[in-house]
Order: sequence, then C-alpha cells, then structure tokens
Amino acid sequence: MDLIIRQGDLVLPGGKVQRGDVGIRDGVIAAIAPQLSESARREIDATGQLVFPGFIDPHTHMGIPILDTFSIDDFESGSRAAAAGGVTTILDFTVQRPGQSLEEALDERLALARGRCHVDFNIHVNITDRPERWLSQIEALCRRGFTSFKVFSTYRQAGMMIRWPQFRQVLAAIRDAGGLLMLHAEDNDLIERDTEAHLKAGRLDPIYHARSRTPEAEARAIQRAAEIAGELEAELYIVHLSSAAGLEAGLRARRQGVRIYLETCPQYLLLDESRYLQANGHWYITTPPLRSPADREALWAALARGDIDTVGTDHCPFTRAQKEAGGRQFHRTPNGLPGVEWLFPLLYTYGVAEGKLSLQRLVSVLAENSAGLFGLDHRKGRLAPGMDADLVIWDPSARGHIDGARQHGRADWSPYQDFPLAGRVRWTLVRGHTLVADGHFVGQEVHGSLIPARSRTQTASG
Ligand SMILES: [Zn+2]
Repeated sequence: MDLIIRQGDLVLPGGKVQRGDVGIRDGVIAAIAPQLSESARREIDATGQLVFPGFIDPHTHMGIPILDTFSIDDFESGSRAAAAGGVTTILDFTVQRPGQSLEEALDERLALARGRCHVDFNIHVNITDRPERWLSQIEALCRRGFTSFKVFSTYRQAGMMIRWPQFRQVLAAIRDAGGLLMLHAEDNDLIERDTEAHLKAGRLDPIYHARSRTPEAEARAIQRAAEIAGELEAELYIVHLSSAAGLEAGLRARRQGVRIYLETCPQYLLLDESRYLQANGHWYITTPPLRSPADREALWAALARGDIDTVGTDHCPFTRAQKEAGGRQFHRTPNGLPGVEWLFPLLYTYGVAEGKLSLQRLVSVLAENSAGLFGLDHRKGRLAPGMDADLVIWDPSARGHIDGARQHGRADWSPYQDFPLAGRVRWTLVRGHTLVADGHFVGQEVHGSLIPARSRTQTASG
C-alpha cells in the first residue's frame, strides 16, 4: 500500500459507520477492513475521526463574467478553497459567448481548468446562445464525457434565456443522448414585471432584489418545465432551489411521475432575507435571493426526508470592493456568494450535529447522489474498494468558527462570518494525493484532473 488510514470511523455507503483501516494504492481505495495487516509507505492515524468519501460540489462558477466584473476565484484559488473544505470534485459550467458553439465554449473553459484545478472536475455545458442551433453537438459532447447541460428560463436581457419551445427541443435532444438537463428556474415575465416596477419607483435597496425575484417566479418556472419533462419522459435537474413554493412545484411533478431532481444550497438553508436589511445587505445579493425563515425550514425538512437530492454551493464569490461598486443598488451589484469551502462543514454542523440530518443523508446529498446524476459514480461518491481515493478526515471534537479573513479562496468576507463549526477538516486526499494535512492546505503541485462522465444510458446498463 502507498498509504493506510488507521482506525478511523469510516462513513460507508448507506451511512453505516464502522471503525477500520483504509488502504490506498495507485490513487485508488485498495482495501477496507477492521484492521489491515500489511504495512504502507505512509500511515495516518485517524483514531477518533470520521472518514468520509470526498465531497462533490455540483455547482461552482470560477472566474465568470457578471455585470462588468468577474467572480473573483479562478480554478486555482477556488479549488484550494474546495479542498480546504473537503470537496474533492467540483462541477463548474461553461460560459457560452454569443456566436460560440457549445464545443468552443467547453474547450475554452477546459483550458482555464486544466493544470490549475487542485481537485478533480467536470464541466456542465451551458446552452444560452440560440439553443436550437447546437442540438447536433449534444450527442458528441456526451460521448466526450460531458453529459450535463444547463439552461436558464430567465436573463432575457442578458441574452441567456431559453424559450419554452426551445427548451422542449433541447430537453428531447439531451434525453436521446443520455444526458441530464439542469434548469435555472425563474419565470422571466414575473421577474421583469416586478423588477421594472421597483426600478421605476426608485426602490433600489437590496431587499428589492428579493421582491423582484419571488418564490412564485421560481415555482411557476419549475411547474412549466416539469410539464414538458413529463410529456417527453425526460429527466430534469433543478439548480439552486430556494423556496417552499418551488419545492412544492417540484414535489407535485414528482408525484405525477416526472423524474425531477432538486438541488439546494447552504445559503437557502442557513440565511434568510433579513440579511438584505443589514448595513451590508448588498453583499448578500445572489440569485435566487435569500428567502424567509419558513422557506428555509421547508428546505431543511425536505433535505432530511430525502426529497432534495443534492446540495451545491453556486460558489460565485465577489470581494467587498466588487460588491460596493454597485452603489448598494440591487440591480447593479454582482450576484453571487462564496461557498465551496464551507459546504461540508456547514452541512455537518447545522445538519448532522444538530440532529436534522443523518450521516446517511449527508453522504447522499454531498457525494453519492451527485456522482450518480452526473455520471461519476464509477469513480466517485462512495468509500468503497475500487473507488478513487478521495477522502476527507474530519475531527468532530474540534471547535472553531468561520472567519472571512482566513479563507482559502479570494473572497475577503464570508456570508457565514462567526458561524460556529462542530468540527474541522484534518485531511483531504484526492486520488491519494494529500491536499490538506493536519488541517493545513499543502497542495503545492496541482493534481486535479478532468473526470469524464458516463452518460445516463451507460450508467443504467452498468
Ligand atoms: Zn449557478
């Protein structure tokens, strides 16, 4: 063995915790046993620690253009933050510029990630410019290992919106290719109506971001998209679900037999719209907006029941200076929050340690389900022999808190400032490479690599 992790409390598939050793050879988990008799070149004593499969953040945006600026993390700094928080795989998105094909946009994005990303990665393919024109590229992209696509039912003025007839065409093409379509679900008509009303009346304070993008807008878009998915018998993945109304629309569709998957984010579980009324309320502008405490609780309950499939962060950080440049006006402030570093520590602390979430649910929503949906489950998502040696060793007896001044990404603030944490990431390994050692980021060389996804049909047939 190259490395043996000794006597950790191993969080196995299904959430079962068993004390034992994990042996790693050639970047893969070679053996798991109560006690491995062989020796290794290196050993880590994990007594009293929880050993998790590496976590997957299915939703990050490193260095993307928003308004007249860029999200501040690139693949290097953003993946450093990911590793520090126990995320060993990130799924980012392309940026399709007008006139660019899906393949060109993908190759441009891959060039930014390759050799820069500390953790493993794959890229979702955004379809924003004249969607009907690129239907013929979808199958080839799936064969290349890029099986997930994303469209937006809003952002018409930014030239990113898909119309429902085109949505139907794209969804059918992705279904036929064995891919998965992800939807940013907000009804554009409602959003334009409410936004214009507030702008016209000079209501520009941060709270009007939330008033302009309502739960009803989310629910209406989910309902419309789910109807089409049902008619086409296609699968559909809703990104960053934020509201009880949106949740209800999704669950209603599921009861009617639609194969709809729901993702939420830590910000919708842990923050609410009262943040917009604070002096620094504009820092919290993100889309969808933060909602009410009742929405937050509805999402927690759904997560605990298993009605929400994944938690991603929508990591899209801006510095305080970037946020200030919008003059505290909601429509001029870049949208997005830092998150990837705190995904697992927050879900552990406010889910598991508070008794809201079982360890089984935690590993499902942060590892297993994303691996399955995005075609990575032949290598990722489970602590089991034969899987990539992506591991997180967590010390549940450590105590600390989040401090935006001491993070690994480039944001100089955190939406979770001073939130207490019920533990600490001690070690993060990606395919056996040590990125975090005894609580410190040590990833001097870049080891992350592109993990090609298997299509839904390949996955179904094993
Ligand atoms: Zn996003």
